[in-house]
Amino acid sequence: MSDFPTTAKAVIVGGGIVGCSTAYHLARLGWDVVLLERKKLTSGTTFHAAGLVGQLRSNANITQLLGYSVRLYDTLEQETGQATGWKMNGGLRLACNAERWTEVRRQATTAHSFGLDMQLLTPKEAQDLWPLMQIDDVMGAAFLPTDGQANPSDITLSLAKGARQAGARIFEDTKVLSVELEKGVITGVVTGKGRIETPVVIACCGQWTRAFAKSVGVNVPLVPMQHQYMVTERIAGVTPSLPTLRDPDRLTYYKEEVGGLVMGGYEPNPKPWAVDGIPQGFHYTLLDSDFDHFEPMMELALGRVPALETAGIKTLVNGPESFTPDGNFILGEAPELRNFFVGAGFNAFGIAAGGGAGMALAEWVAKGEPPFDLWPVDIRRFGRPHFDSDWIRTRTVEAYGKHYTMAWPSEEHDSGRPCRRSPLYETLKAGGAVFGEKLGWERPNWYADLAEGEEARDIYTFDRPNWHAPVGREHRACREAAVLFDQTSFAKFALKGPDAEAALGWIAANDVARPAGALVYTQMLNDRGGIQCDLTCLRVAENEYYIVTGTGFATHDFDWISRNIPAGMNAQLFDVTSAYAVLSLMGPRARDILQKVTRDDVSNEGFPFATARTIGIAGCPVNALRVTYVGELGWELHLPVEYAATVYEALHAAGAEFGLSNAGYRAIETLRLEKGYRAWGADIGPDHTPDEAGLGWAVKLKKNIDFKGRAAVEAQRAAGVSKRLATFVAAPEVILSGRETIYRNGERVGYLSSGGFGHTIGKSIGMGYVRHAGGVDAAFVTSGSYELEVATERVPCSVTLAPLYDAGMERVRA
Ligand SMILES: Cc1cc2nc3c(=O)[nH]c(=O)nc-3n(C[C@H](O)[C@H](O)[C@H](O)COP(=O)(O)OP(=O)(O)OC[C@H]3O[C@@H](n4cnc5c(N)ncnc54)[C@H](O)[C@@H]3O)c2cc1C
Repeated sequence: MSDFPTTAKAVIVGGGIVGCSTAYHLARLGWDVVLLERKKLTSGTTFHAAGLVGQLRSNANITQLLGYSVRLYDTLEQETGQATGWKMNGGLRLACNAERWTEVRRQATTAHSFGLDMQLLTPKEAQDLWPLMQIDDVMGAAFLPTDGQANPSDITLSLAKGARQAGARIFEDTKVLSVELEKGVITGVVTGKGRIETPVVIACCGQWTRAFAKSVGVNVPLVPMQHQYMVTERIAGVTPSLPTLRDPDRLTYYKEEVGGLVMGGYEPNPKPWAVDGIPQGFHYTLLDSDFDHFEPMMELALGRVPALETAGIKTLVNGPESFTPDGNFILGEAPELRNFFVGAGFNAFGIAAGGGAGMALAEWVAKGEPPFDLWPVDIRRFGRPHFDSDWIRTRTVEAYGKHYTMAWPSEEHDSGRPCRRSPLYETLKAGGAVFGEKLGWERPNWYADLAEGEEARDIYTFDRPNWHAPVGREHRACREAAVLFDQTSFAKFALKGPDAEAALGWIAANDVARPAGALVYTQMLNDRGGIQCDLTCLRVAENEYYIVTGTGFATHDFDWISRNIPAGMNAQLFDVTSAYAVLSLMGPRARDILQKVTRDDVSNEGFPFATARTIGIAGCPVNALRVTYVGELGWELHLPVEYAATVYEALHAAGAEFGLSNAGYRAIETLRLEKGYRAWGADIGPDHTPDEAGLGWAVKLKKNIDFKGRAAVEAQRAAGVSKRLATFVAAPEVILSGRETIYRNGERVGYLSSGGFGHTIGKSIGMGYVRHAGGVDAAFVTSGSYELEVATERVPCSVTLAPLYDAGMERVRA
């Protein structure tokens, strides 16, 4: 009788490092798991990886994930008896110009914020660790002692052995031909060896994942790209303890291998691969070495490591690897299909990420949620705008080419733009708008004063950038007169049905059982009380709500709301984003302007804060929502897209005498920081509860209504919190961009979740959690003496739990 299984609790498709790590972790969680590999384990991309394992990323939790890989690799060989080639030889990163040095010092502070030891070295100290390099052009270096390297195939086979030891069943030469669905529900997979009944499929198919997922309607935006590295013969002076080396200004990286060097790089003009599909039978296969394409890398490397000139070259490895439009991998349950999970698109750090990503994916499968917030890699950060393979490739080529370029604060991508445009795009552009992009949407970030000769483009720097003064101008116009923001890109949903109130009442933490016309700002919580969504709901009618959330959260929030509508309830969620343009009229003169263009009552009595009305403007039925994210009197005007130009013109015509001007998203950021409004994905998210975030007032604990997350919030309210979000103020010359370390009475207590400048208070502002295992209350937060570490230097700051601007809400409610 065949030992091929007929059932499994979950089937993992793909036996690279990610599939094997997921099997290892899922089996250890007690799951009956089967892994199917179409050829041999590691035969996809894994076998030809270089094997550097770095840890530091710009996000704390992704860094934590890579740190988990390091801890796992440290003990795996001992646990399984299978060699891994792992060694913790540390990682060096060089800086060869002033701006790179600033970047590296900022990275060192980020590492300190995340609890990693990252040391700054002089060029000579770096050379002592890596004697083969010349350092004439080096300004400084950073050293992360716990980084390392592994043998990719060995570590994968070790994970596979550990998975088997924990009960996983692994089959090679077994291609998954299709996923079976019955009425939209996964029932099994079909292979050449037979069918396996299973409710859960986990696609870890590397570069094959996009096509595989597409067969069940799931969009995984990745494309294969060529990636090359050279392997040398032995070189005198290359020792096994040599740290890995990254030389971003020369676009190259190095590691020791059998007494020689592996040297690879990120070309500015990368080459996509398999544009028309991956050839059949591609396994244990490399692409033809492309010496011409690699030559510029070689030139750069020779300048750093002269010994390469005379070293024998063993081989130039050219392997395909999956890359994504934003340079991060793709993890989680597909929004299009329940129980279809994805772990793919590892952007040449799948060996470094594999251990942690497998752990996180296994927990996601087993518990329905990742172990902690993984938004930067969450599959739901993408959506329909990432459907077209040509667009994905275009953007991915840019992201690949920027792998080692400077990671400027607020940097935007250039490629694949413009894509989604508000009807006002051309008008705003002619008016000096400089756009940014989010989920395909072009959004005005700021406006150059063309008449004054201001250049309408971003010029990036670690200092105050060229948009600092124009944003200050917009900021002040909003505080002193009125401005118009084009926020058409907002994600908008309609929830309809007789059970709409009951369904939303369960999902939302705030009370949405309000009369028609009421606006409710609410969080939506997970079972740990963490903030899964942060949005505004308008009660349109007895059986209808209109929900507005951030542009980038369209897929995520739609998924969260729709999947949490309790079974049996009659309520349907629709995405109506593309139907409505949004013009936000904000500032103390907003009412004067609005009153001029409508006959409807917009007085404070007739149209109070946190309500909505349909009002007529220039022939258009406008859904006006009296709400603000900038801390001023104002309305978000939601209108059918075809009226956008007409209403925009009417508002500007009426607003001229009141000083109305356009303003962009970067002003929204400086305004909201001053007002203390939180940003989801930065200041709040699934790892933060309302009480920790200072948003406990928006939770309906006093009402006798059960809601998702209530038990966790109640328990925490009784026990108290061990972290609290606070606002920090530093001198105007201190440049804060987030992730700076917070010190209280000399002790590290957290890091900034966001940072910027307050143009009204004239100071730098940051927000961040103050953490203390023994508990944190208001007295604890406000009693300490605080400093921020900025680019490795400490600067004094003050702290407050109250908004820095309009704490009494007088302006908002005026
Ligand atoms: C030249 C190069 C250098 C690199 N250097 C590094 C480095 O230094 N550090 C680092 O961290 N990363 C590095 N990487 C990246 C790393 O190799 C990858 O990120 C990682 O191997 C991806 O693993 P995976 O499991 O996602 O994919 P893969 O290893 O490709 O595994 C996917 C598997 O799925 C199987 N499969 C596909 N379809 C099916 C199906 N229908 N049924 C069954 N099985 C299927 C395939 O056969 C394949 O074995 C490098 C990559 C390249 C190309």
